[in-house]
Amino acid sequence: MPSTAFRRWITGVMLSGVAFVAAAGAPRAAADARPDDEQQIGQQVFEELKAKGEIVTASPLYESLNPIVGAVTRIAQPRYNHPFKFYLVHESGPNAFATPGGNVYVTDSLLYFVKNTEQLAGTLCHEVSHTIHHDSMTLIEKEQKIERREIGAAILLGPTRAHMLAIALIGKLRSLGYSRDVESAADFTGSDICAASGYNPWGLVWLFQEFDAADMAQVPQLLSDHPDNPHRVDALKRHFRENPSVFGSFSPDPTSAKSFVAPKNAPEAFLR
Ligand SMILES: [Zn+2]
Repeated sequence: MPSTAFRRWITGVMLSGVAFVAAAGAPRAAADARPDDEQQIGQQVFEELKAKGEIVTASPLYESLNPIVGAVTRIAQPRYNHPFKFYLVHESGPNAFATPGGNVYVTDSLLYFVKNTEQLAGTLCHEVSHTIHHDSMTLIEKEQKIERREIGAAILLGPTRAHMLAIALIGKLRSLGYSRDVESAADFTGSDICAASGYNPWGLVWLFQEFDAADMAQVPQLLSDHPDNPHRVDALKRHFRENPSVFGSFSPDPTSAKSFVAPKNAPEAFLR
């Protein structure tokens, strides 16, 4: 979506003071289990972003983000076996990306870019759908030309190899590495999740339209090489039409949206 644009093993990311919203109702088994491949890759990406000083631990921006995170997580969590965790990251382009293991990263720039709550909710719904679909693991397999069962073996070769996989994944997630079909599938699941969590799923359509209208100089990474928006909008509209019982009650009119205004020049503390 817009995205397309991340341990040493500790049980649970113990970040005191981090303002992310812990998942509601996460499957208990996951807490006891040995970290699996998805968590390990996810943790490597987290370490990489942490090393670059991008991860925001505290900011008033979380207060704007957290209500949406809470509502989306309640619907999405039962579909994935690791707890979703959302982090703000400091990056210049409006973007969001999900990694294996349940972490979802939202750039601070995206909070300043979106015009309404529905656009932001749509983005989060879309990203958790990539996680639910295991899309980034598939991307790693494809890019690294390895089988999924071999990813574990690659990780066993040591942190260096796992780190390399993570860096390759970050690059891919930022360069819109997913196919149009994978994106549309995440759009559909995302719109279902948004509808179930009470956010107008048209928000995703409105976001695409916002990107198309935006000055591309201001959205460098996100959409400058993103010719598929009209296709994705058409596909979403078809999905809405075909499922009137789910989507019929939502207004396609963007003026019905709830405006979203992030606190200006919000201070940010970073994980070091
Ligand atoms: Zn996507």
